[in-house]
This record gives sequence, C-alpha cells and structure tokens, in this order.
Amino acid sequence: MPLPQPQHIVTRFAPSPTGRLHIGHAWSALMAMELARSAGGVLRLRIEDIDGIRSRPEHVKGIIEDLRWLGVEWDGEVVFQSARLALYDAALEQLKRDGLVYPCFCTRAEIAAEIAASGSAPHGNDGPLYPGTCRQLDQGERKARIAAEEAHCWRLDMTQAIARAGTLVWRDMDNGDITARPELAGDVVLARKDAPTSYHLAATLDDADMGITHVLRGDDLISATHIHRLLQALLSLPSPLYRHHPLLVDATGKRLAKRTGGISLAELREAGIDPERLRDDLLCNRFPVGIRLASA
Ligand code: GLU
Repeated sequence: MPLPQPQHIVTRFAPSPTGRLHIGHAWSALMAMELARSAGGVLRLRIEDIDGIRSRPEHVKGIIEDLRWLGVEWDGEVVFQSARLALYDAALEQLKRDGLVYPCFCTRAEIAAEIAASGSAPHGNDGPLYPGTCRQLDQGERKARIAAEEAHCWRLDMTQAIARAGTLVWRDMDNGDITARPELAGDVVLARKDAPTSYHLAATLDDADMGITHVLRGDDLISATHIHRLLQALLSLPSPLYRHHPLLVDATGKRLAKRTGGISLAELREAGIDPERLRDDLLCNRFPVGIRLASA
C-alpha cells in the first residue's frame, strides 16, 4: 500500500561527474523534479565527486549545462561532496570508536586470489563478498601497518554492525516497509584507499545532512539502500522514503552508460532536439527510438 507522503518533500539528483549525462540520467532528474514540484517541495543537486581520478571539473560544468538545457531547476546551492570531507571523516571516526570498522590492507589481486582459493566464497548481490582477511588482524598489527603508512581502506564489520543495529526496515514509496538485508553486501568499504570516504558513507550522511525526505534513484542502487539503512541506524540518522526506478537500456538490452554514443544530452542538444519536447516525452515515459525500460 502506498505510504502517505509528508507535506514537505526534499529530494535530490546526485550525479557523479565521471562523464556527461545520458537520457537515463535526464529521466531520473526529471522524475525527481516532478516529485518535488508536485508537492511544492524542493529539489537539490548534489555532485558526487569524491573519486579524485574519475571526477572531472569539465564534467561538472557539462552536467550543469545539460540540466539547464533540459529545464531541470534545482533549489539552493549545488552541493559538492569534495567540499564535505570533514563530515564524512567525523562519522568514520565515530564508527572507529564504536569498533564497527577495521582497516583492510588487501589489494584487489589478493582478494581475488583468496576468493579463488576458498572455493566456496559467500556471494552477495554484486558477486563474491570480501572474505574478511583483515577482519582477523589483531590491534597491534593494525596499528603497526597503519603507522608504516601501508595503503588501506576501512571496511564495515557487517556482523558486528548488524548485531548492534538489529533488524531494520526501509520505507519504499510504493511498496511500504522492506526489511533491510545489508548482510548481502558483506564488509563494505566505508573509506577507500584513494579517498577518505566511499559512496555509501558520503551519500548516507549527505542525505541526512541535506534534510532529504525522498530518495529517487535507479534500481541498480537497491542493494545500496539496504546498506544505507544500516548506516543510518549506526549513526543515528533519519531514514528517508525511497523509490527505485527501472534503468533504461538500448536496443540490444544493454544498460545506458555515460560513454554510450548517441544518447547523451549533449549529443541530443547538438542534434537540434527541442528540450521542451524531450522533457515532456520523458515525463510521459516516452523514450527516443531504441531506448526502453530494462524491465519492459
Ligand atoms: N552518484 C550516483 C550515480 O551517479 C547516484 C547516487 C544516488 O542517487 O544515491 O549513479
């Protein structure tokens, strides 16, 4: 049964500036804007630029240009995750104090070798889970390796975290309460080797800090929502309502990606497409030829 919607809706569009926006992003952004506007609410724009290598200033500029061209209007200042590292750091420190994260020194190759050797590694939604090698290290070794500046990320100790938080539900705008299954993700990374946070930690903290009441995003992020619900509980943050929309695919059934030719907003603009018409079409779920919903 659909949940009653609160009076004041604050939602957001949160692209990563690793390329130009495609038609799937446009559809997502327009649906978020519609959700906000239909209730006299607010749409925020958050640039998820914590990946120092893949995030590029020219993509930020391009994304803003594309959204303006399409007629997506957001409220307030654009929020940049790269400017909010202190917020993420404070939360990570709290999780360290609570004994819920541990440093992981494994390389990708070591993790792959460990999984291959174990034969029956547990799998989650997104493939085999981290086998927990560094969870076993004692405090002395952790401290010594950190002091020696060995590269490490920080992982959530999923078993401890779930024991602390207990059973949780997140609220889906269309389907009501959904039991959170964060264990399907294993010991997720909360601060990367190459960045002082991760998507999961930063997005969860930002949604709370920005007062987001409704999160609308692609259904490829449902597994993330299970993790975010757990982080909300561990960090005493409110939990917004969620809606996950299907992804768009091309004629071959392949998910649209930032680099797929022919369907970026920049290309449509160059081809002389009328943005108003495109906006109306997308809001009525009418997609350019060859593009369809993944589930259709
Ligand atoms: N930055 C993510 C992306 O571009 C979206 C994250 C979110 O909406 O929570 O796919």
